[in-house]
Amino acid sequence: MRLNETPTVWDLIIIGGGITGAGILREAIRMGLKAILFEQKDFAWGTSSRSSKMVHGGLRYIREGRLLLTKKSVEEREHLLRQAPGLVNPLGFVLPVYADQKFGKRSLKIGLSLYDALAGKRQHAYHGPDKIMEMLPHIKQEGLAGGFHFFDAQVDDARLVLRLIDESVACGAIALNYTSVTDITRNAQGTATGVVVQDTETKETKTFQSSAIINATGSWAEKLHPSPKPHLHLRPLRGSHLVFSADALPLKQGFSFMHPADNRGISIFPWEGAVVMGTTDLDHEGDLSIEPRITKPEALYLINGARFFFPSLNLTLKHCISTFAGIRPVLSEGKRPPSKESREHVVWRDRGLVTVTGGKLTTFRRLAWDALKCARRYLPPESNINRKAPIFAAGPLEPEIDHGLSAETWRRLYGRYGAAADTMIAAAEKQDLSSIPGTHTLWAELPYLARHENIRHLGDLLLRRVRIGLLVPQGGKALLHRIRNICNNSLAWDDSRWDLEIQTYLDQWRHFHAVPQVDPETMIQSTHEFQSLEKAS
Ligand SMILES: Cc1cc2nc3c(=O)[nH]c(=O)nc-3n(C[C@H](O)[C@H](O)[C@H](O)COP(=O)(O)OP(=O)(O)OC[C@H]3O[C@@H](n4cnc5c(N)ncnc54)[C@H](O)[C@@H]3O)c2cc1C
Repeated sequence: MRLNETPTVWDLIIIGGGITGAGILREAIRMGLKAILFEQKDFAWGTSSRSSKMVHGGLRYIREGRLLLTKKSVEEREHLLRQAPGLVNPLGFVLPVYADQKFGKRSLKIGLSLYDALAGKRQHAYHGPDKIMEMLPHIKQEGLAGGFHFFDAQVDDARLVLRLIDESVACGAIALNYTSVTDITRNAQGTATGVVVQDTETKETKTFQSSAIINATGSWAEKLHPSPKPHLHLRPLRGSHLVFSADALPLKQGFSFMHPADNRGISIFPWEGAVVMGTTDLDHEGDLSIEPRITKPEALYLINGARFFFPSLNLTLKHCISTFAGIRPVLSEGKRPPSKESREHVVWRDRGLVTVTGGKLTTFRRLAWDALKCARRYLPPESNINRKAPIFAAGPLEPEIDHGLSAETWRRLYGRYGAAADTMIAAAEKQDLSSIPGTHTLWAELPYLARHENIRHLGDLLLRRVRIGLLVPQGGKALLHRIRNICNNSLAWDDSRWDLEIQTYLDQWRHFHAVPQVDPETMIQSTHEFQSLEKAS
């Protein structure tokens, strides 16, 4: 839908198409509000497609004494596991115990017991070294005393955003990507009355009206609404990840450890057919309008950690398929070490404009409720938040027609697409019902998503609607011919547009997702060394 075809007056305008904006849109529609969402790039283009994909309480927050944040997060984890199976899935983790490590068996046991108590279910166990080596055959054996096994959950973050948006749109919302809010309009008393929006590609502009505007722009939030507290500002912190092929780093469950250089918690875990490792946590000095990317020191720091704990695999950066980096919207009162900054969210109100920022992907519903509660006085009086409603519309339990797909594949499809999964598979060519090698994605997902999910560019399809740009070597370069063939009827692109899209996508991939090549034998020995390398890079 173009801007000039879109109605002008709304009960609620939401700025930002990440998890926070998408969660608010879903709750707003449930409240019976007429709501519209604007996203300056693609849906989930910001941090919400670049997280570590964990739906979790965060064990480290227990160590920091943030029990309330952990409790709320594990409650949300349990809720999402129940309500979005196939999209949010349980994931087992091993926490090793080495003879000389800083947090030994006793402290880990206390932390995990508290973690379970907050979730209301016991799901950790201690095992001796033999069992841990059976679970992780390539783990460093020297000094291994045993380890804990516990459960958290993982998600395809971009698909979570898109499912919330798709369901909201199916219930009457409008969500427009590639539309940037350039200004908030105000009346003579300073009360917000609407927003000025520009289509970032056609440059068409239009003013929309509403007495309630929610700014859910994450790390960009202060551009539209400067912090009302002089001592509290957004501090953009970058976190980067490496993606390995499962052949090079075979893992059946997650593995969490303290990085030998600085004792920071790092995780390596299977995801969508590949293995992801992350994350770093550093001040991001770059321009926020440019996509973040991993630096050489970050890549070196991560590969050093993987080599230390899996010495027999001889891992190098050549075993990585891709990289991705995201910016945490973290509220900071000063210069604490990045990993010690709070992950709590804030809500600010200024005469019709409500800003919500910070927080975690896991707690998106809480952010949505808090923002809508704060916006209540600007909304129609009869609208009420419904905290008991299920997150997603009830989906089918079984496929309408048996297409020969496994129960696991259907679970994955229902988790991602809800009831639309049946339509997607019914429309598919038989030969497209197989998965793309190295991933869990079916070929059939591509033409359906290309047709139905507001694709403007090839990167929207390959990096966020599906994730094969991160999961297949070279961003899936070798697959582009087939992708072009099967999506040709879904996208109204002529040959020259296809050529341009492919070229732009590959350039973008090389720039932001390629693996920097550095000698992994160069060991980083300390945080100080890591930071000096980072400054010099
Ligand atoms: C490395 C890393 C790992 C993480 N891992 C986890 C994890 O495992 N689990 C977890 O729960 N959380 C995790 N988080 C935190 C979580 O990812 C973020 O808190 C969350 O994604 C923030 O979502 P958001 O919608 O607020 O921001 P974003 O996703 O950044 O969305 C904001 C959107 O607003 C848009 N925008 C900005 N300005 C405008 C404008 N003027 N007009 C229109 N649109 C605009 C942007 O383009 C962007 O898409 C992680 C974060 C990072 C960085």
